[in-house]
Amino acid sequence: MKDLAIIGSGPAGLSAALYAKRANLDVIVIEKEFQGTGQVAESAQVDNYLGLCGISGFDLGEKFREHAESFGTEFLEGEAVRLEQKNNVWIITLQSGDIIEAKAVIYAAGAAHKRLNVSGEEKLIGKGVSYCAICDGALYHGKTAAVIGGGDTALDDALYLSDIAKKVYLIHRRNEFRGSKKSVLKIRSHENIEVITPANVTEIAGENRVSSITLDNGRSLFVDGVFIAIGMSPASDLVRNIVDLDDNGYIKADETGVTRARGLFCAGDVRTKKLRQVITAASDGANAAMAAAEYLK
Ligand SMILES: Cc1cc2nc3c(=O)[nH]c(=O)nc-3n(C[C@H](O)[C@H](O)[C@H](O)COP(=O)(O)OP(=O)(O)OC[C@H]3O[C@@H](n4cnc5c(N)ncnc54)[C@H](O)[C@@H]3O)c2cc1C
Repeated sequence: MKDLAIIGSGPAGLSAALYAKRANLDVIVIEKEFQGTGQVAESAQVDNYLGLCGISGFDLGEKFREHAESFGTEFLEGEAVRLEQKNNVWIITLQSGDIIEAKAVIYAAGAAHKRLNVSGEEKLIGKGVSYCAICDGALYHGKTAAVIGGGDTALDDALYLSDIAKKVYLIHRRNEFRGSKKSVLKIRSHENIEVITPANVTEIAGENRVSSITLDNGRSLFVDGVFIAIGMSPASDLVRNIVDLDDNGYIKADETGVTRARGLFCAGDVRTKKLRQVITAASDGANAAMAAAEYLK
């Protein structure tokens, strides 16, 4: 039996593995993707991870994995499909039918940005299509960007980008925004933000980079970038009945990652928090590993 099983080898899981191995725990990391390093691998360039400016997301993920490996972390490729606790032992069943037992578990399964599912979106991800204004906004100095969505994230993204870009379109399918009234008022007072409602994007166009978008009201807009902020889906189904989730499906826990279930910790994007980034995921992993080590003691 392992001291600690970590589900997910994104930045949160790998950071947790590093801290847990250095605390002398017997650790296994379970990851469903071959050599997976989580969402960060999808990022063309990461400019906001301290000390490693301009690195590709793929390379950053590789560095994280190599670092965790260098301290002797054991990895297992497989998807965890069931998680239960019996007599203080956590039992993880994999898709293959294999079973892993551990005294404690860190659940670091991450989240995924929801897609618009319109023509051109998939092809232009990383080439003008982004799901994260904090990550990629700095590339739009003096340019034109569109933000799609009506919640707080979309409003925050539009405000954030308005300080960088020359012009920002905020496009929402309804006339009313779900996000805070205060942010809506701020948006209305920014001269370089144009609100377009109700409207849906039907196409994102561009050869090698985004050049324009088409709306269902017939309008076409020339833009350099499109920020899609229509929400994220946390990968919390596996623990739905074991821990407390917030209204959006994120696991309720503070930065220690301690959940309602004894010996089950969470870390990274799957946890309730304000900022979902590589650096906050890595920080969560470290905290959760320390909380798990304390629990095991
Ligand atoms: C396109 C893109 C660009 C980004 N750019 C930046 C950036 O520039 N800067 C920045 O700071 N952040 C960026 N982010 C956000 C950042 O990548 C995430 O915040 C971070 O990866 C979250 O780490 P995590 O470990 O919590 O989760 P994830 O990275 O989502 O990793 C979770 C891992 O768990 C695995 N998993 C899930 N379920 C199971 C299961 N049941 N069994 C086994 N394995 C499972 C997944 O395969 C995955 O590898 C970007 C995200 C995207 C999508």
